[in-house]
Amino acid sequence: MIVIGGGFAGVTAAREAALRGCTVLLLEGRERLGGRTWTAPWDGRSIEYGGAWVHWHQPHTFSEITRAGLALTLGDDGERAGWYVDGQRRSATLKERDAIAQRGWDRFVEGVQEALPMPHDPLHAIDKLARFDRLTIAERLDHLGLDVEEHDVLAAELESLAHAPLDDAGAVSVLRWHALSGYSLALTQFTGGRVTIARGTRALLHAIASAAPFEQRLGVAVAAVTHSANGVEVHTRTADAFEARVAVVAVPVNALGAITFSPELSEGKRGAIAQGQASRGIKIFIHARGEPVLNNSLRPGHPFGHLSSDVLFDDGTQQLIGFGRDASVCDATDVTWVQRSLDDLLPGYEVIDATAHDWLVDEFSRGTWAIHRPGWYEHHHHAMQLPEDRVLFAGSDIANGWAGFIDGAIETGLRAGARAAAMART
Ligand SMILES: Cc1cc2nc3c(=O)[nH]c(=O)nc-3n(C[C@H](O)[C@H](O)[C@H](O)COP(=O)(O)OP(=O)(O)OC[C@H]3O[C@@H](n4cnc5c(N)ncnc54)[C@H](O)[C@@H]3O)c2cc1C
Repeated sequence: MIVIGGGFAGVTAAREAALRGCTVLLLEGRERLGGRTWTAPWDGRSIEYGGAWVHWHQPHTFSEITRAGLALTLGDDGERAGWYVDGQRRSATLKERDAIAQRGWDRFVEGVQEALPMPHDPLHAIDKLARFDRLTIAERLDHLGLDVEEHDVLAAELESLAHAPLDDAGAVSVLRWHALSGYSLALTQFTGGRVTIARGTRALLHAIASAAPFEQRLGVAVAAVTHSANGVEVHTRTADAFEARVAVVAVPVNALGAITFSPELSEGKRGAIAQGQASRGIKIFIHARGEPVLNNSLRPGHPFGHLSSDVLFDDGTQQLIGFGRDASVCDATDVTWVQRSLDDLLPGYEVIDATAHDWLVDEFSRGTWAIHRPGWYEHHHHAMQLPEDRVLFAGSDIANGWAGFIDGAIETGLRAGARAAAMART
């Protein structure tokens, strides 16, 4: 069996098939495993350029954490909250600002419990979900009748969750987090931003990858997948070819267009790939000097308008993490630009250094976490999950539960690996 893509989905699928006795070859385009998770050193410490936060409400991730015996770290909540209303800065406690966010959020999620009664089965009540699925977040926001303060706080929250312009991101992508988080804003914030793996996502990935023997080839980008008399042929960009009884394609939806399938994929899949997913945001790390308090700042439309202190260092500096809706307007290598942008969000702090990975221009991701555009659940979700003869599909972008999270990747890898192993025997 061949697995294409060595993110959490591909590595889990490879492990599951190997555990069932399959001979597995995993082909990964980058020179490392992990895909949109990437634990790497920066400024003398370890950071996560991609996925980082985990939670016990993410069942597949948490069971793997238990299995691997990994310790978790609970991050601190912010001490001081700042937010902008009509361009004017306001500041108070996080609790006070969260009360404003809650009012807007409650309106935003009205009706979601009926539309997503089974959050790990998004199509369960598709007739009710469809009215949300047809909307962008911006369209949903426009109809809530919020005052300016509620609107601006909610818009900034949503830009960070959607990691995309709100007029492009489908409303359901974010509404689903709410359903998966027990229909609670507090838990939505907690699941997506407080708990990390002490030794990094790399430790979890390594634990999964080393739980069963399979061959890995890094720096091997797949160009084509072809059905053959015996199963599947996989062709690399350097014109190597591999044969197997079955293949699992575990690459991001936005990177699938670079692989040629023969025969052509179903119409449903081609439509989904053409539509792609909308996330195009930035996750920026800033090392700054200033008052040693844990800040949490929101500003809609700002290049990294959801900014939180991550670590306070003993020397009075701190590491901040910012999320913004469009990586193409950010340049983390330009400290002057970062300083100017920081002044517009959190005045009084001096930038020492900054870094980010541009997942948008990265040919192996072309986006960040899955944020589907309107119509995904009505028209594409089911189609993307169907096998094409002996080719199976996996990846967080097409997960039933926590799509856009590590959990969704593991969920699909578990399913595809077991199914591929069964197919390989026929
Ligand atoms: C900035 C950022 C922050 C995030 N924050 C969180 C978070 O806090 N918590 C959380 O749970 N999730 C988070 N996520 C999402 C999470 O990281 C992803 O949903 C998950 O890691 C995706 O796993 P995957 O295996 O489905 O896809 P990927 O990790 O993208 O793996 C796909 C693999 O396929 C490879 N590939 C692509 N094309 C080819 C090809 N042609 N040939 C061979 N290989 C190919 C890629 O190189 C990649 O390794 C974040 C993501 C980003 C980018």
